[in-house]
Amino acid sequence: MHFRDLGRQYQNLKTDINKNISKVLSDANYINGSQVIELENQLAEYVGVKHCISCANGTDALLLALMAWNIGEGDAVFIPDFTFFATGEVVECVNAMPVFVDVDKQTFNMDAKSLEEQIIRINEEGKYSPKAVICVDLFGLPADYDSIKKITRKYNLLLLEDGAQGFGGQVGEQKACSFGDIGTTSFFPAKPLGCYGDGGAIFTNNDEWCDLLNSYKVHGKGSDKYNNIRIGMNSRLDTLQAAVLLVKLKAFRDIEIVNINRIAEKYNKSLHNKVSIPLVPKNYTSSYAQYTLTLNDKKQRDSLQRELKLKGIPSMIYYPRPLHSLKAFQGEGREFDYTKNFASNDICDQVLSIPIHPYLEQEEIYEVVHSIMEFF
Ligand SMILES: *Cc1c(COP(=O)(O)O)cnc(C)c1O
Repeated sequence: MHFRDLGRQYQNLKTDINKNISKVLSDANYINGSQVIELENQLAEYVGVKHCISCANGTDALLLALMAWNIGEGDAVFIPDFTFFATGEVVECVNAMPVFVDVDKQTFNMDAKSLEEQIIRINEEGKYSPKAVICVDLFGLPADYDSIKKITRKYNLLLLEDGAQGFGGQVGEQKACSFGDIGTTSFFPAKPLGCYGDGGAIFTNNDEWCDLLNSYKVHGKGSDKYNNIRIGMNSRLDTLQAAVLLVKLKAFRDIEIVNINRIAEKYNKSLHNKVSIPLVPKNYTSSYAQYTLTLNDKKQRDSLQRELKLKGIPSMIYYPRPLHSLKAFQGEGREFDYTKNFASNDICDQVLSIPIHPYLEQEEIYEVVHSIMEFF
């Protein structure tokens, strides 16, 4: 059994994917092919925002957003303490100060109360000026944007939605990647919508930021490509990846998002009496980038993982360490005392993600459920 069976997905979409790849090869339009524009239009329409700017990966997408907002030295950017490293990495890349915020034990997403506490703390210390919040839609579930936005408005902060894992999620009818002033996503193969390599996209309704992002992603180009007006980067989405994504986006919206929710529902029904299952609040839809259980403690979590492994069932620990504890964020004058009582410290010892993807079959679901039941 695979944790996320991308081979099986390919077998299902093979004819169309091969056709689209062949066309790129025979047209030889490897960079800036018409497929890239076509994909950007379809993505913007799906997410429900005015502009989609494709780029080379989800990390660049975040970085480009911070560059467009001119965030840098002396600025504080608030990020959840429980997420993938890249969410915090990009803050360091622009020389701003990452401030860690606790997460909710049940949704794993940024805790609005903790966010406000950290903003107040930073304002009182007076060393950094709060500029932006990067809010993550972890494991496919959109964050609590109602509460988060009240705070970003109150303190006049920009909101960047890191939807790398959130693509396809919803609050009511509103789609993930549309909640922030800018939203981003990743097309890394194992994300909800993945390509066959690296890829990413940025979403915004703001025309000015859209122009800036399009410039920054191509060496800070001006109206003419060889008249560079700022220092940027080289961060385009390949035509090949766009051609793959055009097929995958159709499958994603027509079939996969429904299938994965049906599978999650089966897990929920079979497991909720035995173990803490991922909470999807009322009115929310998850795209289930992960299906993550919460065990009692590290000992129980690790022994469940061992048992599953013996039965040939893969599982993953996302994430084993809170961000603030990583060596990369340590440095002179940096004090992380404020994170001492964060729930993120415990969560890292308790979580275990089990296999989930839209092509998981009934027998496999049964096998996973049965093995977990046996453990208990
Ligand atoms: C994967 C991921 C990223 C980075 O995306 P890449 O395409 O791998 O650069 C950023 N944030 C989160 C939360 C992610 O899961």
